[in-house]
Parts: sequence; structure tokens; C-alpha cells
Amino acid sequence: MTVCEDAAAALATGPLCDSCLGRLFAERSFGLANAERGHALRVSLALEEDEPFEASEDCWVCELESERVDWWAEQAATAVRGYDFNTYQVGTKVPPLLEENDALLREDVGLSPDAGEALKTELNREVGKRIGDLTGAEVEFGRPDVQFTLDLATDEVDVNVNSAFVYGRYRKLERDIPQTKWPCNDCNGTGRLQGQPCGGCDGSGYRYDESVEQLSAPVVVDAMDGEAGTFHGAGREDVDALMLESGRPFVIEVDEPRVRDIDVEQVQKDSNDFADGKVEVEGLRLATHEMVERVKELDASKTYRMDVEFVEPITDDALQAALEELEGATIHQETPQRVSHRRADLTRTRDVYAASGELVDETHAEIRIHGAGGLYVKELISSDAGRTEPSLTGLLGVESVVTALDVVDVQGESEPFAVDEYFRDV
Ligand SMILES: [Zn+2]
Ligand SMILES: [Zn+2]
Repeated sequence: MTVCEDAAAALATGPLCDSCLGRLFAERSFGLANAERGHALRVSLALEEDEPFEASEDCWVCELESERVDWWAEQAATAVRGYDFNTYQVGTKVPPLLEENDALLREDVGLSPDAGEALKTELNREVGKRIGDLTGAEVEFGRPDVQFTLDLATDEVDVNVNSAFVYGRYRKLERDIPQTKWPCNDCNGTGRLQGQPCGGCDGSGYRYDESVEQLSAPVVVDAMDGEAGTFHGAGREDVDALMLESGRPFVIEVDEPRVRDIDVEQVQKDSNDFADGKVEVEGLRLATHEMVERVKELDASKTYRMDVEFVEPITDDALQAALEELEGATIHQETPQRVSHRRADLTRTRDVYAASGELVDETHAEIRIHGAGGLYVKELISSDAGRTEPSLTGLLGVESVVTALDVVDVQGESEPFAVDEYFRDV
């Protein structure tokens, strides 16, 4: 059958709009929108039959839904007013009755059930095109800023505003600050115990008043005028450890942002003012959602700075010799005693990439260790009663203990965290 013969058969089933007629032949003739193709077919059939051309005022297949694409686009643009977005995607919920009509039409004409283009696909594309014209944003199929769902049964547009992401590195300049909010164990974060304010947290619900998250995320959420924020760190240091020098990568995820293209330098300055010297952020940049997975992979190497105390005096020569032994060594570690009640006991190996340091006096030293992710560095010094081998204690033959521990750098194990494809530059 030719396209014209099929078109004539389709028109014989009842009133059809140009779009529904044209959709039947979407894969058999290219280069025209469905409505244009339907119109052209109708014109040429009228010429062939030598009958006057008549446009259709009704459509039994889509019930004239195809002619409401401008209306839908306006509804969508209105629904998202007040929200910045650069990319979007349109989906349509087509009632089963209309989908059924599409199938019936094809059956009546003698075409396969999936011939041409489905109503849903046509509406997604045509409404999508018009939303682009109205808003200047672009269609993206992966992970758009905004997802529109047109519900033909209710005439409503559902809008889902996806999160925005800001990457940076933080330094923690005061001890006893956890990375994220830490609910009080006594009251499970409720702030109350047996009807009274909880004594464990003075009724705040938190074990610590402040966290790196609470000292940074609110400023970013505010700048983006979002609903809430989540802090994703690339691992975390102990609560009593500082995070210094180049800092630790993080991503702040902002829910339902109204503003996306923020001035990151201004936000960085505001965040640092807000944190008042307790926490500093730097290198803030807009990022894609993939950056969250990226920073959360725990496979990161770290550099530590430590204050170490020796129970007996040692010489600088002995210290340097021991550190030389540690540099490049593969360390065998049984699960440390301090965490073995939480983790299964096992022996694992981690490499020390670099070890250096110097004596402050004969029983104190400052030491720097760059080790693979997962290296237990306190035990590398103390030996943990022989459970870590080799160790500084073992090599010196003098019991050594870490009295202060700071993280000074966090890096991806095989490649840097911050590669361009995970950023979204304005
Ligand atoms: Zn129609
Ligand atoms: Zn409490």
C-alpha cells in the first residue's frame, strides 16, 4: 500500500486531525512535522479525488489533544516561573483510552500496532520545542535541571526541580567539630529525655553545636534559594582532628534551587565570613551530580601531620632511619583494637607513600605521613600492641604515640577528584 492509499483508509475511519494523520507515516516520510505531513496528505488526496479541501475540526484519536501543544507549553512555563533552569525534559502521561485509539486506528488501516509515532512521543517533542522557545532553555535527556510531566487526564503539569551541586575543599581549623550534624546518642536527636530537656546535649538534639556542614551548607542553600542542603564529604577526619592545608573535597547538594548560576566567589567569601575562622572553604565551583559519587568514593589517599610522643628519649638519626624504613613500605594491619568491636577482624595491607619528620625535643616529634586510603595512621605509629607491622614503635624499639593528628591533604588514589567533565561552568 502507498502512503496515499493508507492515508485515504485512515480518513475513512472518522475525523482525524493533521497530527494524528501525519503521525501514522512518521517513519515513511521524513523532513516534515507530523501536522504538516498530515496537512499535505489531506491536500493531495482532495486533489486526486477532485474534491474541495476540508480541514478537520475534530479527531477521534487524540480528541484534539495534539492542537493543545501551545497551551501545554504555556502551562509548563508558568509552573516553573521563579526557578532558574538551563536544561529540561518533557514527559507525558497519556490516558489509556487515547493510547487505545492510536492502536485501533492502526488496526483499521491495516498497519502494525507501532507504525509511525506514538501520541506521547509527538506531544513530548512538540511541547518540548515550545517550552524551549518560551524559556530559552535546552532539552536534555540525561539529567535535566527540570523535568515536566504533562498529565492529559487532569490537565496538570507536574514539575520536578532537580538538585544543584557545588564542589569545593574545606579546611577545619578547630578541633571537636564533626563533618556533618551528629545527633545526640542520649535522646536520639530529639533534644528531650523523659519529658525533660536532654542533659547530654542541653536540649539541642546534637552532640556538637556545630559541624562543617552547618558552617558551610546554609550559605550555599541560601544563595541558591533552595529548600534544603546535603553535605557530601570525600571521607571524613576524626572529630578531634584538624583538616589543614589543601583541605578535603566536598559537594553540597541543594534541593529545589531557584537560582543555579550563583557567583561562587561571592558565596565562598560569605561562607567563610559565616564560619568565622572555624571552617574555611575554597575553590567553590558549580558541579554536576556525578561529582557526588566522585567525592564519595572512599578510595582516596591522605597526608597526615602528627604530633608524636616517645616514652624514652630518641635521637634524630634513629627517627630518620625509622621513617626511611616506613617510606614505601607495605603495612600489614589487623583491625585496630579501638574499632574492632565495630568491624570484623581482618588483616589488610596499605602502602605508605611518604614519611618524613623531625624531632621537636628528644621525646617529641612532628611527623608527616602520606598513605593509601584506609591506612590506620595512629596504629602505624603505636603498633597497636603488635597488630600493625611494621610500625614506628617497632622500628624504634621505643613506644610512640600520636597526641594530635591533622589531615592536610586528600587526593584521588589514581587520578585527581576535580576533572573538568564534572564541573558546570556558567
Ligand atoms: Zn488527533
Ligand atoms: Zn540529647
